Amino acid sequence: MEWAPFLCESTGMLMETPTAQTEPQINESQTTDRFNWPGAIFLIGLPILTIPLAIWSVQLHGFTLFDGLLMFALWGLGGISITAGYHRYFAHKTYQCSPIVRAFYLAFGGMTVQNSALIWASDHRFHHQFQDTDGDPYSINRGFFWAHMGWMLRANPEARPFSNALDLQKDRAVMWQHRNYALVILVMNFLLPTLIGALVGRPLEGLVWGGLARMFIFHQSTFLVNSAAHTFGRKTFSAKNTARDNELVALLTFGEGHHSFHHAFPTDHRIGYRWFHYDPGKWLIRSLKALGLASDLKLHPKAPA
Ligand SMILES: [Zn+2]
Ligand SMILES: [Zn+2]
Repeated sequence: MEWAPFLCESTGMLMETPTAQTEPQINESQTTDRFNWPGAIFLIGLPILTIPLAIWSVQLHGFTLFDGLLMFALWGLGGISITAGYHRYFAHKTYQCSPIVRAFYLAFGGMTVQNSALIWASDHRFHHQFQDTDGDPYSINRGFFWAHMGWMLRANPEARPFSNALDLQKDRAVMWQHRNYALVILVMNFLLPTLIGALVGRPLEGLVWGGLARMFIFHQSTFLVNSAAHTFGRKTFSAKNTARDNELVALLTFGEGHHSFHHAFPTDHRIGYRWFHYDPGKWLIRSLKALGLASDLKLHPKAPA
């Protein structure tokens, strides 16, 4: 992708913005006119199934500290795997990390049911390359609901070459997760929380709070990056695109909120770019480096420190 520097009106800082909007606006990630029935049943059926099940389980066995901690812990493991793994490692390669860390990201990122890392990263690379145009899979210019989750209700093309993710196609672990994604969902999202619950005699609660409710809350909060962080907040780094800095989104997504910064400097491992910005993704990556499990953390030379 080519980058063109320009002066930010509000801060006077030299910024960069992609010039890819001038490229052809057609790409393989664009959804078809076909309705995505499996996706729709899953996204809409999840709360319809979860809410009565949750009420039933509370009536039956109450809601304990264990239930809350399990939900929060798995929410955290999934969230950190999406922001530090799917997003900053697989999609943008903002640092290098060990195979064990990559396996962790593939397992717990898979648990969030946001697609395989290959599909997620390919879609996301198109989001940056064609931002705010029809080539952007979740362009905010097609409406808030479309960017939030409507785009997932349309089917993707049958066979995608993932032409913008050739590097990931050479990664055997990524391809294993992609080919066995249904198994990953089954084990990580349903079996694991149920088994953890069973260890303390609460298998139903493990499934309901650690599996289903956690997944629904996670989906709706993480979808805010594509909707709210392109609608509400400050256009700190570029008035030319819709990405915005939004602290509330950062709180709900483990540090994804400074989206104006991220669209200006997508190769930087930080998203909360100031030292005091809430960004657990950045803190994890730096902790992994301290432990010798990550290296080559990228800092964009023109990004603010
Ligand atoms: Zn974006
Ligand atoms: Zn990104």
